[in-house]
Amino acid sequence: TQRYYHGLTKSRDGFGAKINALLANFRSVDEDFFDDLEETLIEADVGFEMAMKISEELRNEVKFQNVKQKKDVSNVIIEKLVNIYEEEGKSEDSQLHFAKQGPTIYLFVGVNGVGKTTTIGKLAHRYQTEGKKVLMAAADTFRAGAIEQLVEWGRRVNVEVVHKEEKSDPAAVVFEAVQKAKKENYDILLVDTAGRLQNKVNLMNELEKIQRVIVRELPEAPHEVILALDATTGQNALTQAKQFGEVTKVSGIVLTKLDGTARGGIVLAIRNELHIPVKLVGLGEKMDDLRDFNSEEFVYGLFK
Ligand code: GDP
Repeated sequence: TQRYYHGLTKSRDGFGAKINALLANFRSVDEDFFDDLEETLIEADVGFEMAMKISEELRNEVKFQNVKQKKDVSNVIIEKLVNIYEEEGKSEDSQLHFAKQGPTIYLFVGVNGVGKTTTIGKLAHRYQTEGKKVLMAAADTFRAGAIEQLVEWGRRVNVEVVHKEEKSDPAAVVFEAVQKAKKENYDILLVDTAGRLQNKVNLMNELEKIQRVIVRELPEAPHEVILALDATTGQNALTQAKQFGEVTKVSGIVLTKLDGTARGGIVLAIRNELHIPVKLVGLGEKMDDLRDFNSEEFVYGLFK
């Protein structure tokens, strides 16, 4: 619970506070209460369907448990949010995967500005701190400044970066990085890519080529394809995820900038609509501001 505490201040002040306010004015669990609750959930980006579902399940639970006390209602809400989240995702695998042998490779995708490069830097720092041998590859050769930004992260967290000049072939960068990772026994290789969603065909070709290069060198890789989504963009993030799903097979999501939004409910919407597990969350700009996603901690973090 503590781990999410600071990063979720805004969501707690927004989503959590609204539900708490609802409960503060609570007289009885009547239709008005459920109307207000549904509205609050929708405002928090939970999504319409999900808001209805939560409200419906709460209705039943409240009847079933004969809940009348304010404190009990609040507990039922928290419990339901966690349960619904778990239930929706029971077939999903929210662990990050590692190679059984040889280097682990994670490919990062997502549109510009969502926090891809930052996430890679943070994750490199995490593995480096754990004593792993970490390599990064600057295969976003398209966006001006992207290479330099990753190189800068490399300096900051003391991790090597494979890079070439701007506009060079991203697959060539990846090829070099995979070769190096194999030859020099790296534990993990984190690959940044360009997120040109406005040109889907090019993006698809580029990602396919990168994946081909990886698979040729290491048949079981990449071990994760992680899509970065910016939590502050709300329902837009869902649209992006759907579009990326059409170009490549995404194995997990990093939901960034959760510290910058009052609408933490997007986590539930992602689960309900996409069925891709959120594996990581970004809670700030610094190298330590990355957490593994844990639904219980997350929901409690919204309320406490
Ligand atoms: P990219 O284009 O997807 O690689 O995005 P960047 O990694 O360059 O991030 C874009 C901006 O978002 C930068 O200013 C980052 O510092 C910021 N950013 C990334 N992740 C987070 C986060 O979890 N919280 C906050 N507050 N800012 C973030």
